[in-house]
Amino acid sequence: MIPVLGESATISQTTLNFLASLKKDPEFTGTVRQDYGYRLVTATDNSIYQVIPQTVIQPRNALDIQKILSRTELPEFQSIKITARGGGTGTNGQSLNDGITLDVSKYMCKILEVNLEQGYVDVEPGVVLDELNKFLKPKGVFFAPEISPSNRATLGGMCNTDACGMGSRVYGKTSNHILSLDLVLSDGTAFTSQSLTQETLKTLKSTDGIIGRVFLTVDQTVTEKKEAIQDRFPKLTRFLTGYNLNMVYDSEGKFNLNFIIAGSEGTLAIVTKLRLKLTPLPKVKQLVVAKYRNFRDGLKCAQFLVDFNPIAIETVDGKIMSLARGDIIWDKVSRYFSDPGDETVQCVNLIEFSGMTTADVERQVNPLLLALKERQGKDGEANSFVLATLAEDMANLWGLRKKGVGLLGNVKGARRPIGFIEDAVVPPTSLANYIGELTALLDSYGLEYGMFGHVDAGCMHVRPALDMKDENDEKLIRKITTQVKDLVIKYGGIIWGEHGKGFRGEFMPESFGQELYDELCKIKGAFDPRNKFNPGKLCTPFGSKDTVTKIDAPTKRGHLDKQIPKHIREDFELAITCNGNGQCFNFDPDDVMCPSFRYSKDRIHSPKGRAGMMREWLRQLANAGYDPSIPDTKTTLQDPDETYDFSHEVYSAMQGCLSCKACTSQCPIKVDIPELKSRFLEKYHTRYRRPVSDRLVATAENLHGRLSLAPGVYNLGLSMPFAKDIIEKTTGMIDPPLLSNPSTLSRLKLKSPDVLDLKRLKKLSSEELADCVVLIQDPMTALYEAEIVEAFVELCTKLRIQVFVAPYMENGKAKHVKGYLKEFKKVASRQNQVLKDLHALGVSLVSIEPAIALTYREEYLQYLGKDHGGYKVWMPQEWLSKKIDRLDISKTLKPTTPQHFVLFGHCGEKTASPSYQKQWQDIFKNFGHTLDVEAVGCCGMAGAFGHEKKHFEESKGIYGLHWKDKIQKRRNNRQNILVTGASCRSQLARLEGYTTSHPLMALNQSLEVIDT
Ligand SMILES: Cc1cc2nc3c(=O)[nH]c(=O)nc-3n(C[C@H](O)[C@H](O)[C@H](O)COP(=O)(O)OP(=O)(O)OC[C@H]3O[C@@H](n4cnc5c(N)ncnc54)[C@H](O)[C@@H]3O)c2cc1C
Ligand code: SF4
Ligand code: SF4
Repeated sequence: MIPVLGESATISQTTLNFLASLKKDPEFTGTVRQDYGYRLVTATDNSIYQVIPQTVIQPRNALDIQKILSRTELPEFQSIKITARGGGTGTNGQSLNDGITLDVSKYMCKILEVNLEQGYVDVEPGVVLDELNKFLKPKGVFFAPEISPSNRATLGGMCNTDACGMGSRVYGKTSNHILSLDLVLSDGTAFTSQSLTQETLKTLKSTDGIIGRVFLTVDQTVTEKKEAIQDRFPKLTRFLTGYNLNMVYDSEGKFNLNFIIAGSEGTLAIVTKLRLKLTPLPKVKQLVVAKYRNFRDGLKCAQFLVDFNPIAIETVDGKIMSLARGDIIWDKVSRYFSDPGDETVQCVNLIEFSGMTTADVERQVNPLLLALKERQGKDGEANSFVLATLAEDMANLWGLRKKGVGLLGNVKGARRPIGFIEDAVVPPTSLANYIGELTALLDSYGLEYGMFGHVDAGCMHVRPALDMKDENDEKLIRKITTQVKDLVIKYGGIIWGEHGKGFRGEFMPESFGQELYDELCKIKGAFDPRNKFNPGKLCTPFGSKDTVTKIDAPTKRGHLDKQIPKHIREDFELAITCNGNGQCFNFDPDDVMCPSFRYSKDRIHSPKGRAGMMREWLRQLANAGYDPSIPDTKTTLQDPDETYDFSHEVYSAMQGCLSCKACTSQCPIKVDIPELKSRFLEKYHTRYRRPVSDRLVATAENLHGRLSLAPGVYNLGLSMPFAKDIIEKTTGMIDPPLLSNPSTLSRLKLKSPDVLDLKRLKKLSSEELADCVVLIQDPMTALYEAEIVEAFVELCTKLRIQVFVAPYMENGKAKHVKGYLKEFKKVASRQNQVLKDLHALGVSLVSIEPAIALTYREEYLQYLGKDHGGYKVWMPQEWLSKKIDRLDISKTLKPTTPQHFVLFGHCGEKTASPSYQKQWQDIFKNFGHTLDVEAVGCCGMAGAFGHEKKHFEESKGIYGLHWKDKIQKRRNNRQNILVTGASCRSQLARLEGYTTSHPLMALNQSLEVIDT
């Protein structure tokens, strides 16, 4: 039985007093998160560090932030430290600190105003970059700076790291696109910063208090140290982030503080609103994919490619290419890598051109294509190249590049790619030589690494693989960082060329020179004399005793992870290997990842949050002497009471998970939260009693299977007055489904004489067997929607495919979801035997419900190991699309009038089988119909999840986010909506009040047998 896990990392009394005082303020509207779980989720980014904040405050507006900061001026609260946080995607601990974290991403995420005439958009700092650009796209404009984590990084974070990425050579950095910033200063004063005339500057300098002090200090520095600044700041497109003294005065003599704030990493002020410049969206883009035999060739070509003036040139190395081949992205890009010799490609350059017309873009692209052709295959030149012109293809190719970090994280073994020197920049002309020396350096330590990045900007991302649980590897962080810093300085570059400095501030004096560094400290002192903003980063107020935090000082994740014994780490690898890159914080409601986070906007309820909670749970269990790999002999069931137990926090995080499995395929590391959840629940309930609903869900497959022998009685009972109320009150379950109509079931038996007659199968020859199919019944269609089974049988019969319906057997999915793992394994072993026997006959196996078909492929394989029968249970479209080409339906079947359908797919089907869309479309085309596939995320039902009353609001909310609008706009053509998931159909039935068809039903109805 698991032990009770007490409180850890307690909150200081001063912070508690501060929070109490804040909560009493009637004008404060933000949320305070003191729970350990939320602090834990905020303790990591994509770096090696784990720094637990005292608490997390989520403000709703600038006034809340003013309330917080003005309160920190009171004598009793002057030790309070505040660090802002957006998407938390830093790679060097940029948003990590041990004071209070100000999380602006939860509520301050509204797009406020767009003014196309004047070319600006106003946003709150928590708006995510992709979200903004999705909103702007129909208006023909965009926010130009682009970064890899664009689906989760916020504009506030981008401003504070002065972010940029692909396209920066042409578009510049975030600071080049800021028109004004609303700020809250360290004493709570609100101020709007924008480009100023000398006259206004003069007035501001003479203002009392913080504003006068700031303007005086900055102006004095940039005026008096002009020469030193020009001498010292390298002439690179990406030189530095933060306190950019070189840009304060523009060529017309206007003064702009925004260049000091941009890239200051929250050390000077809190940004509460941004007015951003809009750029016309190019109407046409084309992408050249150039492939090289070795990495150095790809880099050496940088200047040759830059001369064609593309928007972007991005590079991916052979290591990432080989990892991409095992990822779902490969399905979408593989045809661009099918030239002879492409398997051995060691470098790919993606070169993008854009313009307002095709002719305009072709004028730019054609000379490059000609030049590449002339040089093709020569020593040091591209081996082959190919042009992508379709928007979808280009997006997928960029998707491959954006996945670089994630893919690298997917390498196996204890040493994992670590970001700590990954954003160094040198002049592009020196890139090949710099990388040559860098690789020699990394090779001298015997390290593996992968590379990708912006060859046109001289910025190559490199992640050496280290085991941060190993002391010797940990020591390499300082050694390598120092050596790389020296190397980039030698080449006229800088170590923090893109992602900001984070905990690398100690290298600032050397990079800037002591004279200028002192000036930066004076600026920090003017803005933040008490060093309350993100202390330890960048610099300290001039003259203060505080110091900048050294790279090896903060707690590292590896230190905590190594407290978990090795065998447990290996057993729970899925939780340990989450590298925190935050891809699961994807904002896009059309994407399947991760519905519970998207609905709640609570980072605990994300794959990263849950993996982090699991990791900490394992650590605490280990420290309490409990080994979760040993089966429990003792259980004492009790109801959770008021006593604090960290396991309750983990339980609550897991409760929000729909077990939709999007993370298992979409997370680049393949972090499998449903599996972790099941394993956690199994252990949690060795101590704490299960709710009735768990038992009911876990036994429903079996129980309803028996009841389906007399469905009328059950259905009658369910339709009695108060029956549903009683069920809800006693079990916590709502909207229980009716069993299939008895007449459908008996018709099914009559219509297909072969149904349930497995003995006949064994009499068939191997050729006959190869041509027939066995339907493995799933609980959803077999028990509640037998008309779909009937449609499948009829369709196969019309297609002259012999079909057998295997007797209904429990699959065990529900048991797995609820963490009845021993029972699941028993059920799986039983069903495995049946499938094994059928597979041995050489017959195809199909299961209609995607969630169930995938259980045979994933959980069965995992739990049965070498006992698994090696069969594959196909989803209908996978099997039909293989068959359909070989069937000539025209002689025997008459298609009805061509129709147009719209398919709403099931999450599992989409993620496990990326070709599902094309497969369904090909099948429908073959039958003379057209099929559109709607991009939707999760429907919110996910098996029994939405039937549990406690999840109803979440279930409905997720439906509202992803499905509602797209369904409702088709309400007049509802008969053409096709839905593959049983859960999705039942969600539609209860929330929209009508039933929808499975594509198999539409196909069946659309064919008539020709009378002969
Ligand atoms: C896989 C991966 C790829 C990356 N690729 C790129 C890339 O291509 N280009 C690039 O530039 N960066 C890149 N980064 C780094 C990172 O994504 C950027 O720095 C990004 O701008 C951070 O945005 P965020 O919302 O996550 O900010 P956070 O990480 O939350 O915060 C960043 C800094 O800004 C401060 N801050 C946040 N909001 C505010 C506010 N409202 N007021 C004051 N201070 C604030 C924080 O205190 C912190 O110091 C990458 C990171 C990862 C993990
Ligand atoms: S769960 Fe996966 S996608 Fe999310 S942060 Fe961890 S590794 Fe990245
Ligand atoms: S299974 Fe679905 S809901 Fe649960 S963490 Fe993964 S993506 Fe999120």
